[in-house]
Formats: sequence, structure tokens, C-alpha cells
Amino acid sequence: MTTAYFSHPDCLQHVNPPGHPEQVARLKAIEAALANPVFDGLDRREAPPGAEEAIRRAHPKAQIDAIRDAIPDSGWRQIDPDTTTSPGSWNAALRAVGGVCAAVDAVLAGEAANAFVATRPPGHHAERANAMGFCLFSNIAIAALHALESHGLNRVAVLDFDVHHGNGTQDVLWNESRVRFASSHQMPLFPGTGARHEKGAYLQIRNVPLREGSGREAMQAAWAGEILPWVKEWGPELVLVSAGFDAHRADPLAGLHWTTEDFGWITHRICDLADDCCGGKVVSTLEGGYDLEALADSVGLHVEVLMERGA
Ligand SMILES: [Zn+2]
Repeated sequence: MTTAYFSHPDCLQHVNPPGHPEQVARLKAIEAALANPVFDGLDRREAPPGAEEAIRRAHPKAQIDAIRDAIPDSGWRQIDPDTTTSPGSWNAALRAVGGVCAAVDAVLAGEAANAFVATRPPGHHAERANAMGFCLFSNIAIAALHALESHGLNRVAVLDFDVHHGNGTQDVLWNESRVRFASSHQMPLFPGTGARHEKGAYLQIRNVPLREGSGREAMQAAWAGEILPWVKEWGPELVLVSAGFDAHRADPLAGLHWTTEDFGWITHRICDLADDCCGGKVVSTLEGGYDLEALADSVGLHVEVLMERGA
């Protein structure tokens, strides 16, 4: 089988103000990297717009309306000090939701072994009633709820290796016993959440903070020694990934010292988990990663491993 790759040109139309790290060039750098013939075997698909019904599982109607109302006719609208909308943000945000939900559909239908979704804006900081941290909708949590409600799954894992804590994912899934959410992240760092004592209403959330400057050894201990065994013993039917690449040593926003090869390692270990539990079903979606070269290299290796493991 193949690896499915979802993206859409609308995701280039969400434009942050000049100098903002979450920039259009991120997606262009990824597209350039994936133009390499190594990636010819990808099953490339357009990310469809997400359905409002799917978004409503994670966000109240008033919040969805507030984001729609915050789309300017020109220029920018500031949602918080970090988070901005431009005229194209609504359609981009819908594609980001729809891409990861369509990737879940494709993998659960057996059309692809696994999938990567390259869309923006990212999602893991968007709480139920609060867009923040460059994020408008909680893409990965919406996809998890879509897998539960539209496909009848009972156990979905969400793994988050972005350098920042996925506070939005945690907020949306706090009371959801059918999802195990695990995150490693630098602490202290934005958004300030993600302490070990934050465990969810059903002890279904596992937060593993990492110290600034800690590198491969701490990362491998967190994942191989703690997160992956904790998820594996539960037996997920699908593994979703919030794939942020800002733990890279070159990233300007954080201070973990992961290398490009570390993202290959973690992708292999996630695929091992999925092979053991659910026939290799992994759906990964882009979150952070702000050094363009490191991002392109790391996404390239991530997708290469997905292709190798899904072949
Ligand atoms: Zn991040």
C-alpha cells in the first residue's frame, strides 16, 4: 500500500503579518522537499474543506462563528498577540480540519497504509472556546472525534511531539475516555500547560515535560520508556500524530536539541506501535516547525519513514 499525502493551495492563503514565524513559506518549503523523486510514490490528494458538523464536536457554535466573524476583508485581524487572521484564513482552516479527517477516512478505508497532512494553520493550541498560539481549530482533536463518531472506533491515540504542549488538544479531549492523548514538550515554555499532574478526567492524558537543552537521550526515554508503552498496553485502533518539528535544534522558537534523525527515530517508533496495535494505521498532521530548512528536512524524513513502513 501507499502513504497518502493531503494538502491544498488554500492553505497558502492563510497569511500572517510579515516576520511571523508561522508563514506561508513553511508549506512551500515542505512542498519543495517533497518534489524530490523519492516521494513519487505518494498518493497525493487534495484536502477537502472540513464539515461544520465535525468541527462542532470540538468547538461550540459561538466559537466557530467568532472565528468566521474575525476574517477581515483585507489586511489582518488580531485574535491574540500570536494569532492572526487574513482574508484566506477561513478556507485554510477548513482545509486543515478536512485534510486530517479525510486522511482518517482514507486510512480506515484501507485506501492508504498511513497518511501525512501538510496544511496550515496548525491546530493543537486551539481550545474549545479559544483560538490561540497560531491555531484556529483543534484539527487533531476534531479528527480523533471524527474517528470515534463517524467510524465507530472506541480507542484512538493522539501523540504530540511538537515542542510546545498541545493545550488545545488536551482541552477538547479532557473528558473523552475513548482517546489517549500523550505529549512530550519543553517546559517551561508557551503555553504553560502540560505538567505531569494534568491527567484528564479518566487518567487518559499523559504529559511528559522535557527540560530546555535536553536532547536525544531524554527524548528517547520519554517516548520509548514511557509514552509508547503506556499507549500500547491500551491497544489503540488508530494512531493520530500532532507532528510539530520545532523541537529541532535549529528552531528559533524553542530549546530542545533534537536532530532531523531524531524525527526519523520517533516516526519509526510510532509506526512500531501502530504495527503492534492496529495494522500500522497512522495519520500524522503538521503542527509547528519554524526553521524552514530544518522543517523541510524533518518532514521529508518523517514522510520517507511513513512511506517505508507503509509499503
Ligand atoms: Zn510548536
